[in-house]
Amino acid sequence: MNDSNRDIEALIDMMARLPGLGPRSARRAVLHMIKKRGLLLGPLAEAMQRVADTARECVNCGNIGTGDLCEICANNARANGQICVVEDVADLWAMERGKAFKGRYHVLGGTLSALDAVGPDDLRIPRLLDRLPGEDVKEVILALNATVDGQTTAHYIADQLGDSVTVTSLAQGVPIGGELDYLDDGTISAALRSRRTF
Ligand code: ZN
Repeated sequence: MNDSNRDIEALIDMMARLPGLGPRSARRAVLHMIKKRGLLLGPLAEAMQRVADTARECVNCGNIGTGDLCEICANNARANGQICVVEDVADLWAMERGKAFKGRYHVLGGTLSALDAVGPDDLRIPRLLDRLPGEDVKEVILALNATVDGQTTAHYIADQLGDSVTVTSLAQGVPIGGELDYLDDGTISAALRSRRTF
């Protein structure tokens, strides 16, 4: 193998480590980029370099942005007294795509886990408590995953918050367009528990 092939192989190996891509998809993606060198490969390399230089965690909420504060924390219009607590930045981005939430976020960076020895200080939980007085928070919305660890974490945070703010959680239930027959038992029972007047 010559040197240039080695460079291409190294790129494929790195791409194959990305979530959702295996060696086969990585190979196809790299080949496609090389064929579209001017349109894709060059601009992609530049975009990656810019993000590598500028991307960082927001010191306030843990979102990813390009300044000390993310766009949401820097925007005073988002200071509406609500903080939505999520596990990961991907969850924050999913909430933002829904365009329904107008407040700010707090990214924990994971969930409590006895198995993986993750405790409260490993997550951004102390920082959440610090934010409450300074940002005049009235409601904390727990938007954690409906897993055992997610729900354990939600209960722990609710305990820590006590009566200082209103604590709510996302309703869980039948997805829009979902058919009952295809739902698992846990989803159906959660939907039944969070039922409302028709
Ligand atoms: Zn932020």
